Amino acid sequence: MDQNLVPVLDEVNAFLRKEHGLLVDGASVAAAAGGRIEVRNPATGQVIASVADADAADVDTVVASAHRAFTSGAWSGLRPADRERILLKLADVLEAHAEELAQLETLNQGKSIHISRAIEVGAAIEYVRYMAGWATKITGETMDVSIPVPQGARYTAYTRREPVGVVAGIVPWNFPLMIAIWKLIPALAAGCTIVLKPSTETPLTALRLGELALEAGIPPGVVNVLTGRGSRAGQALASHPLVSKVTFTGSTEVGKTVGHAALDNMARFSLELGGKNPMLVFGDVDVDKAIQGAMMGGFLNQGQVCAAASRIYIHRSKFDQVVEGLAAAASSMTIGAGMDLNAQINPLVSARQQQSVCRYIDIARAEGARVLSGGQAADLPGYFVQPTVLSNVDHRSTVVREEIFGPVLVAMPFDSMDEAVHLANDTPYGLAASVWSNDLSLVMNVVPKIQAGTVWVNSHIPLDPNMPFGGHKQSGVGREFGRAALESFTELKSVCIAH
Ligand code: NDP
Repeated sequence: MDQNLVPVLDEVNAFLRKEHGLLVDGASVAAAAGGRIEVRNPATGQVIASVADADAADVDTVVASAHRAFTSGAWSGLRPADRERILLKLADVLEAHAEELAQLETLNQGKSIHISRAIEVGAAIEYVRYMAGWATKITGETMDVSIPVPQGARYTAYTRREPVGVVAGIVPWNFPLMIAIWKLIPALAAGCTIVLKPSTETPLTALRLGELALEAGIPPGVVNVLTGRGSRAGQALASHPLVSKVTFTGSTEVGKTVGHAALDNMARFSLELGGKNPMLVFGDVDVDKAIQGAMMGGFLNQGQVCAAASRIYIHRSKFDQVVEGLAAAASSMTIGAGMDLNAQINPLVSARQQQSVCRYIDIARAEGARVLSGGQAADLPGYFVQPTVLSNVDHRSTVVREEIFGPVLVAMPFDSMDEAVHLANDTPYGLAASVWSNDLSLVMNVVPKIQAGTVWVNSHIPLDPNMPFGGHKQSGVGREFGRAALESFTELKSVCIAH
């Protein structure tokens, strides 16, 4: 046996063999029409499991479960301290199953087991503990008001934050467990109930999360899991009249559809969409640190990260050095399955994503780009693409304008701070950016000019549950993390008392 391959746990194999249904009212229920969706391992292309394929009738059943649980007060009526305690228990339960969850994610999504352990599961558990604490810190305000009628009347007003109701959490395939948790926990902390809709590509950890939520003591019906195709089950969920808030992460195109559907019902919505995130490397940087930052920011999770560094702008004085270093580092990366402890680049999530990324590389070639490393699918059975560095690209070219969502870095030179800022902002997106310089005055001048929800300085990608995350422009609406996330699952009620 290959010593570098992580042995699959018995409980993971047992979970893969199960006949997974929809999680409704705390029970696994088959889709009414009996449809199934095959789930594949991206490292091999083999089918490893199957899940229920829900249609609109199933969506009614699942949403009704969440609605009953909400109106019963079984969750929203608990003392905040009890919600907090149960969510902290959930964190412990997740921790007890950490390796199982990490393996399931790597087998289904393709990412490195190191990333599954540290981020998908490890960072997500920290997020659960952080967000659990918000359950007991929901506050309103009191206000003095000046209402003049009837003459001599006195009033006192205050606001309450109340749970918005049934939440639809629509989750993408790039960080399936972690993003499900980003949606689930603030919704629960606020007192809402939820229907989680994982991506068709990666439904497994959401189903396991639903089971573990029950084990932690969250009442049946509070957390429901709807597997099914986005265009059918997802669309029916986003437009369901009993859904009061839709929280979506995914492409800008689908995000707009989801936002329109929510608006038709006056449901609240938050959309965390794509990015085409610039990394600005100024002339005073340590070249090795900038190269490491671009490798981490660009190739983490094979570049399937909404905040990935994908446009690397480098001051002309350092351009050749940085680009040569990047190409050398990318060429030396070991390609292999996520369960291989030595592999540094793992498969993309699907054959469709692999084809999409290769198509972008072909377009770049046709538009005159130089391919400095990689440039094609790897000659392996799964959905691998070589880590690719492109230069000699025009700022207007397709690979500079569009989100690729794969292991492809595009490097371009700039000559001045103003030009760097202009190039960084000259995009429809505005999710994240990074500025690399030790010149304090330069950094403090550049940061306010960048149109992005997050700007890192001398790093690219780190997130923290206490730091709001979301986009400007076509990158979305609303913020996840921190108080902002919690409040997005509440309605603000004004109470006005005459006395
Ligand atoms: P989508 O935006 O299509 O999918 C995201 C989620 O939305 C999935 O759960 C999907 O379900 C669901 N969905 C799809 N269509 C609808 C619909 N009409 N109504 C409601 N829900 C729907 O992303 P893709 O998976 O197609 O990826 C395409 C591109 O999107 C990527 O190449 C990348 O550029 C970007 N993307 C951005 C992400 C981010 O983090 N911001 C994450 C993922 C992708 P299903 O999987 O069943 O179709």
